[in-house]
Amino acid sequence: MKKEEKTLHDHFRVIENLVFIGFIVMLIPALFSMSALWTGILMFLGFGIMVSAVLYRNKYYKCPHCGGKINVRGVPNYCPDCGAELK
Ligand SMILES: [Zn+2]
Repeated sequence: MKKEEKTLHDHFRVIENLVFIGFIVMLIPALFSMSALWTGILMFLGFGIMVSAVLYRNKYYKCPHCGGKINVRGVPNYCPDCGAELK
């Protein structure tokens, strides 16, 4: 089976989901009164997910031509560093 190459849009979606899930997990203890232990666990978990989003971004979400960092607000059509077309 041939592995389909992921586009920057695919990577962007993964990062978006990780940040969203991490945010929700960290929000749960703020919305519901929970014991200090659970608050700690969920905050730690949410923080871990956020960190993995950042690590994922550093590893995969960059220009395939020059490795330049790309705006996290969305995938631009062209790399801001080298001007290569992005997809
Ligand atoms: Zn580039």
